[in-house]
Amino acid sequence: MKKILLLLCFVVFIYSVSSQNRIDLSKKYAASITAKEIGNHLFTYASDEFEGRNTGEPGQKMAVEYLKNFYVKHKIKSPIGGEDYYQEVPANYMNKLSRRWKLKDSENVVAFIKGTEKPDEIIVISAHLDHVGMNKEGEVFNGADDDGSGTIAVLEIAEAFKKAVNDGNGPKRSILFLHVTGEEKGLLGSRYYTENPIFPIANTIANLNIDMIGRVDERHKGNPNYVYLIGSDKLSTSLHEVSEAMNTKYTSLELDYKYNDENDPNRFYYRSDHYNFAKLNVPIIFYFNGTHVDYHKETDTPDKINYEQLETRTRLVFHTAWEVANREAAIVADKVKKAE
Ligand SMILES: [Zn+2]
Repeated sequence: MKKILLLLCFVVFIYSVSSQNRIDLSKKYAASITAKEIGNHLFTYASDEFEGRNTGEPGQKMAVEYLKNFYVKHKIKSPIGGEDYYQEVPANYMNKLSRRWKLKDSENVVAFIKGTEKPDEIIVISAHLDHVGMNKEGEVFNGADDDGSGTIAVLEIAEAFKKAVNDGNGPKRSILFLHVTGEEKGLLGSRYYTENPIFPIANTIANLNIDMIGRVDERHKGNPNYVYLIGSDKLSTSLHEVSEAMNTKYTSLELDYKYNDENDPNRFYYRSDHYNFAKLNVPIIFYFNGTHVDYHKETDTPDKINYEQLETRTRLVFHTAWEVANREAAIVADKVKKAE
């Protein structure tokens, strides 16, 4: 009798272990990314109180504090150390690059989850924290889509990874959450980061950059279940394949490559922060919803965001990051053109 009981216990044990392994962890943690949470953050982050988050100005300082407080609250560490989540971006650095401006000192915000098996391999998930401020009449450019949507997406992705860490399911490779300043002034914060990286660029295996994923453009009216992907196939075959596979498996968005065309006159590939990584041969994906009538206007407000789509697109970035962080083989830049 005792033997049978023991055997039964053993069978139950094996069964529970194997069913644990059958749980799709990527799906489990992606579920924590919700339209509701994104909305709660975005209605604050893109409120008038933040004065359009102009680089170096009081509203932008409120923005970085908001981001820092989020990471402190969720116990996601700074890669710099202690409670210092700011990478200073000096005024003289920015004003030298972009003589149009007389900017004040600003900062990127950084947070970090260390990989369990390959901690030296870094995936950077980025979005720009700044926007264009206010007009002369004091009207605020809220920048809910640009780039409140990407900013909050990064927070939600960080939170999902942290939940995994807390359960003992942390990513095998490391992840840097990078909120860059000065994008609207000429990609300045991301340029500063890539010239003064916290982790070597040579160890940075991919950059997933999000800039505007909360709206639906004219081209997709009536068919909002899409996202434009730009750059995914330019440097790495494997990154593009992972991206496509994760979308097929989890999010079923229409992946629109219209703006990925080298001959597209908009040249979006060169126009957001990922480009500073791409030019150093780091494989990137740029997630984008296209432009719309409220682009760079006072009317880019949080009430106009499609939160359901924002949730799905954020989950796509999370699933892609999860796979890049946990898959056996690292993403490699196999399509880099060698100098002749
Ligand atoms: Zn933007």
